Amino acid sequence: MKALPPETVRLLCSSQVITSVLNVVKELVENSLDAGSSSLEVKLENYGLDRIEVRDNGSGIKATDVPVMAVKHYTSKISCHEDLERLETYGFRGEALASICAISEVVITTKTADDDFSLQYSVDHNGQIVSQKPSHLGEGTTVCAANLFRKLPVRRQYYSNSKKCKEELKRVQNLLMAYAVVKPELRITLSLNKAVVWQKSRVSDHRTALMAVLGAASVANMLPIQHHQESLMFVQIGIDGFFPKPGSDLNSTSSSSPDKTFIFVNSRPVHHKEILKLIKQYYTSAQSNKESANRRYPILMMNITIPASTVDVNLTPDKTEVMLQNKEGVLLAVETMLISLYGYSIGDDDLKAGG
Ligand code: ADP
Ligand code: MG
Repeated sequence: MKALPPETVRLLCSSQVITSVLNVVKELVENSLDAGSSSLEVKLENYGLDRIEVRDNGSGIKATDVPVMAVKHYTSKISCHEDLERLETYGFRGEALASICAISEVVITTKTADDDFSLQYSVDHNGQIVSQKPSHLGEGTTVCAANLFRKLPVRRQYYSNSKKCKEELKRVQNLLMAYAVVKPELRITLSLNKAVVWQKSRVSDHRTALMAVLGAASVANMLPIQHHQESLMFVQIGIDGFFPKPGSDLNSTSSSSPDKTFIFVNSRPVHHKEILKLIKQYYTSAQSNKESANRRYPILMMNITIPASTVDVNLTPDKTEVMLQNKEGVLLAVETMLISLYGYSIGDDDLKAGG
């Protein structure tokens, strides 16, 4: 038996963390948001396979941090495990840039408020800086990842199918839409091969942000919700968002995925099967045509605010699944909100029968 060479280990681990174009965009965008950016430009070439660029106007990376910015487990966001209990950032593992470097060719340009000009760094597959030169870019950070998955032929092959590429682009757009609705003040542009695919300007509130994402007609059929409840464990649970008016038929475009069912926990986009199932039950129960509604997911936006110490976001590499310490309390708060919105309570039997 022999130990694997370090570059093989790096590639194996990194390609588990970074599995897709969507993953790269998500990690880079979350870094930009953690840096306090109010503007994001996401540019894809050849659906991201040839090049993914994310440019922000955030805080930039300090010159002293640059040598370790793409080294695995280096992070400016937490300094010990206990910090996770008061986590306010999307990132915390110090893993994304290192992993993206392992599976692509990375160039990072950055400037903080204290720097006179920006510098562009080329980073190798180990996350080490190999060269640097001055750049004209302004304050903030731009990360370019080129030639994605060059050493992973199966994954590259996946993107040779144009239908799959278009689906991935839709997923990227939906992800950006999720950040757009939860952060109204954010300006976002998504482009493919230099043509703008979707953009949203800076707005002042969630309703206007939702209109930019879903269209005014859909939002006209939604009601604002605001619900605050204390669980039996004395945990404060806040639920804010916009839901379809009772009886209005506002379904996600895709029947198979809740692609416009924007659910967040502490502003983090999440998938939570039980919360989704509960919402779908109440939404469907208020429809006249239950058959057709039951097949689709409602369009909505819901942000659940709970203490950071009661959420474990470190379950999956992409952090879209969360474990809630007080799950029953959260589900009860969501259900109480749904009952006040859709009018009546669904018994346990109905919930079970609904699958
Ligand atoms: P994490 O986000 O978990 O800290 P990353 O590998 O994604 O790990 O990033 C490593 C570090 O690089 C971050 O902690 C941050 O200090 C810095 N960084 C990365 N992207 C940006 C950005 N867009 N703006 C400012 N700093 C950044
Ligand atoms: Mg990160």
